[in-house]
Amino acid sequence: MDDIRENEIRIRVPPCANASLTFIGKILTPWPDRDSCPRQGRLDGPECRLVLAPEWQPALAGLEAYEKIDVLYWLDRSRRDLVTQSPKSDGTTTGTFALRSPVRPNPIGLSKVRLVRIEDGEVIVRGLDCIDGTPLLDIKPDRCAFTPAAPPKPGGRPED
Ligand code: SAM
Repeated sequence: MDDIRENEIRIRVPPCANASLTFIGKILTPWPDRDSCPRQGRLDGPECRLVLAPEWQPALAGLEAYEKIDVLYWLDRSRRDLVTQSPKSDGTTTGTFALRSPVRPNPIGLSKVRLVRIEDGEVIVRGLDCIDGTPLLDIKPDRCAFTPAAPPKPGGRPED
C-alpha cells in the first residue's frame, strides 16, 4: 500500500461505513428532479458540470486528451429494494438487472459522455441524465493506452 511512483499524489481517503465508496464531487445539471431528467443522456444534450472536491482535482491531469469519458454517479434518491420492476405500467415486468433503471441494490449510474472542456477543477460534459447535485463517484477515459484494441470486424477497420 505504501508503493507510490514519481509524480503520483496520494491523499488520506476518509473512512466509509460499508463498501468504502467515496464521493469525489457532485454533478451540476439543469434538472431539479427525476421527472425532468432524460431517461438516458444524449451527446448533444445540455452542458453539465462535474465539480470535483479540491483534493481530487489533480486526478484530472491528462483527461483533456479524451473526447469521450465514462462518468459514474450515485443515484441517491433511488429506492434499492426492487428485484423486479414494471417501469412502463403496461403489465410488463422485468428483472432489475435487465434494466438501466435507477432503482437497483447499488444505485450506480453510468453514462458515456462528451468532454467539452476542463476549467478550474470542473469537467464540462454533454450526455448526462441525472438530478442537479447528484454525487459523483468516478471518471474514466473511454479508452486509454492500456485498453486492448477491439478485434477488427470482417471487412471493417480495426477501430470500427
Ligand atoms: N445513464 C445511467 C445508466 O444507464 O446507468 C442512468 C440511467 S437512469 C434510467 C436515469 C434516470 O434516473 C433519470 O431519468 C431519472 O429519472 C433518474 N435519476 C437521475 N438522477 C437521479 C438521482 N440522483 N437519484 C435517483 N434517480 C435519479
